[in-house]
Amino acid sequence: MPEGDTIAYAAKRMRPVLEGEVPDEIRTPQRRHAMDRWPERLAGQAVTEITTHGKHLFLHFEGGLVLHSHLRMTGAWGVYPPGRRPRRPMRRAWLVLRRGSTEVVQFDGPVLELLTESRARLDRRLAGLGPDVLADEFDYARFLARLRGDDPTRGIGDALLDQRTVAGIGNLWKSESCFDAGVDPWRPTGDVSDEEARAIIDAVRPRMRQSADTGDQASDRRVFRRHGEACSRCGTTIRARGQGDDNRTTFWCPGCQH
Ligand SMILES: [Zn+2]
Repeated sequence: MPEGDTIAYAAKRMRPVLEGEVPDEIRTPQRRHAMDRWPERLAGQAVTEITTHGKHLFLHFEGGLVLHSHLRMTGAWGVYPPGRRPRRPMRRAWLVLRRGSTEVVQFDGPVLELLTESRARLDRRLAGLGPDVLADEFDYARFLARLRGDDPTRGIGDALLDQRTVAGIGNLWKSESCFDAGVDPWRPTGDVSDEEARAIIDAVRPRMRQSADTGDQASDRRVFRRHGEACSRCGTTIRARGQGDDNRTTFWCPGCQH
C-alpha cells in the first residue's frame, strides 16, 4: 500500500527523467480523461518541479498548471527506461509521460487531476493536510495541535492515519511507529503524552526517510504482518486486529507496548 515514503521514492525516480524537461509525449489512456485534453493543455511545457506532501504527488508545469495525484490503496507510479517493462498491463495506465525512451506511468490512480497552482494552494483537502512526516524539519507544534484537536477517545494508532494530523503515515508505519516508541496503539489519544506522541514521530521519520531514499520499504518490519510471531524485543506473540472506523489492521506487541 502506498504511504508517504513510497510516493517520495517515486518522485525521486521521476525527477531525473522529467524535471526541467518538456515531455515528448503525454497520454491519458483512461476513458475518464479522454475529454480533458491534457496533452493539448500541457503541450510544449517543461516540468519545473516534482513535489510531494504525504501521499500526494504534484507535477508542476511551467505554464502554471499542476498535475495532482493520490494513489489511495490501489495505484502505483512506475519509471520505465528502455528494456524495463511494467508488471501491470498498460491498459490500466491512467497517465503516461514519455521523455526520450523513458516512460513515467501512473497506474490505477483514483485521484488524478489538473489544477492551477492557485487552486492547488487553496484546495481544502490539500490545504488541510497535516505536516509532512518526511519533511526535512518536522513541524511538531502543528502536529501536536492537530492531535489535541482530534477526538481524545480515538486510539493513537488510528489517529496517526488521519492525514490532517500528520501527512504520509499509512497502515504499515502506524504499526511500526507505535512499536518502536513502545506505545500501545489502542491507548486513547487523550492518554498519550506530548512526549510519547513526539517519540512516535521521531521513531518513524528516519525509517520512512530511508525508505523514501532507497525504495526498500519491506525490509526490517518489526510487527507489520508479523502477527503470530514472537516479538523481537520481548518474545510475546505479536497480535493483529482491525482498528478505527475503517477497521484498518493494527499490528502490535501486547508485551512491550504500553
Ligand atoms: Zn514485545
